[in-house]
Amino acid sequence: MTLPTRVLVLNSGSSSVKYQLLDMRDRSRLAVGLVERIGEQTSRLKHTCVTGGDTREQNGPIADHEAALKAVAEELARDGLGLDSPELAAIGHRVVHGGMFFTEPTLIDEGVLTEIERLIPVAPLHNPANLTGIRTARGLRPDLPQVAVFDTAFHTTMPEPAARYAIDPKIADRHRIRRYGFHGTSHAYVSRETARLLGKDPSEVNVIVLHLGNGASASAVEGGRCVDTSMGLTPLEGLVMGTRSGDLDPAVIFHLERVGGMSTDEIDTLLNKRSGLFGLCGDNDMREIRRRVDEGDEEARLAFDIYIHRLKKYIGAYYAVLGRVDAVAFTAGVGENAAPVREAAVAGLEGLGLAVDAGLNGARGDGPRLISPGDARVKVAVVPTDEELEIATQTYALVEKNSR
Ligand code: AMP
Repeated sequence: MTLPTRVLVLNSGSSSVKYQLLDMRDRSRLAVGLVERIGEQTSRLKHTCVTGGDTREQNGPIADHEAALKAVAEELARDGLGLDSPELAAIGHRVVHGGMFFTEPTLIDEGVLTEIERLIPVAPLHNPANLTGIRTARGLRPDLPQVAVFDTAFHTTMPEPAARYAIDPKIADRHRIRRYGFHGTSHAYVSRETARLLGKDPSEVNVIVLHLGNGASASAVEGGRCVDTSMGLTPLEGLVMGTRSGDLDPAVIFHLERVGGMSTDEIDTLLNKRSGLFGLCGDNDMREIRRRVDEGDEEARLAFDIYIHRLKKYIGAYYAVLGRVDAVAFTAGVGENAAPVREAAVAGLEGLGLAVDAGLNGARGDGPRLISPGDARVKVAVVPTDEELEIATQTYALVEKNSR
C-alpha cells in the first residue's frame, strides 16, 4: 500500500493553535491557519485554503483546545481537506521541551505522553498546552500516527561542558537543571539550508545561526551538530529578546527580592514579559524601534545598542567555540527583515573575516541568500526559517520509516 502524502502540523500554545496542512510530495502548503485567544469571548479562527486562494475568519468564543481543534477540522473539511481524509498520513506536533529524554522525533503513545508530562516542571508554560493539543488530536483521529517534534532535540548533541551550569551536579541532576536550548527545529532547518546555500553537505560546514524573532537564540553548529546554544534551562537565557532579558547576573534576582521587595512571580513576569527591548524602550517590534532610532529617540537607540552588543558577544563566543566558521546565518522576523540589525551585528568584525555588502544586505528577497562580499572568508547569509515545514518533514520521515 502506498503511504498517503499529507501531514498536518499543529503548534498548540497556551491560548492559541497554529496549523498547516502540507503535501509532502512537493512540500507545498494546502491550508494554513491560526486560532487565537482560546478561552476568551473574543476568540478568532483565521483559515486560509492555499489551493483555493480563500481566507475565512470566525469570531466568537472558542472555549478550549478541543473546541478549537474541532473548529479547525471543520474548516479543513469545508475545503475537502478534512481530518478523515485517507490522504492524511500523520499529524506532527511541536513540543517545546523534550528534556534529555527525547533526542529525535518520536511516535506518540501513552508512554511518550507521560514523559512529556513529567517535563512540565521545566516547561510550565508550554508543555501543558502542547499536551492538550496532542490529546485532542488523538481523540479526533486515534488511528492516525502522531509524532512529537521537540524544540530541544537538536541541542541534545551539546557536549557536557556546554550543557552544564557550574553548580553542584547532584543538585542539578535532582532538579534536571542543565542547558537544554530551544528553537531547535529552526536551528536544524536553517543550518542545513545554509550548507545547501554554500553548495556543501551539512557535515562539511560550521555555522553560527542567529534566530532573531520575538524570542531570540544563537547556536553554534559544527558539521550539522549543535555544540552550543544561547537559551538554557528555559528560553530566558542568552540574547536580548522582544520582552525577555536574556543573560543576567543571577544575583539580580536575589537583589530584587531582598532589596526590591518583589515576589518570585513578579520577578518571573518582569524578566519574561516586561524586559528585553520592551523593558528598555517600551517597544518590542524592531520596525518601531528602528523608526524611533531614525527620528533620534535616545531611549530606542540605547535599546538597539544593547541588543546589538549582546548579539555581537555571542557571535564572538561561538566563533571561539567553533574555531573555524564558514557562515553566519540570520533568520526569523528580525533576522530576515531588519538589515540595520545585520549590518550592526557584524560591524567591526572584519578581523574575523565577517562583513556584509551594503547593497546585498539592503536588497529585499524571499529565499536564502548571501549578503557578504563575494570574496568574504566567512559568508553571511539570510536564511528564512520554516519550522512547520521542518516539523512536517521530520514527521513524514518517521512515518515513512515505520511503514517499511
Ligand atoms: P518572529 O517571532 O520570528 O515572528 O518575529 C517577530 C518580530 O520580527 C517582530 O516582533 C518584529 O520585531 C520583527 N519584524 C518583523 N518584520 C520586520 C521588519 N520588516 N523589519 C524589522 N523587524 C521585523
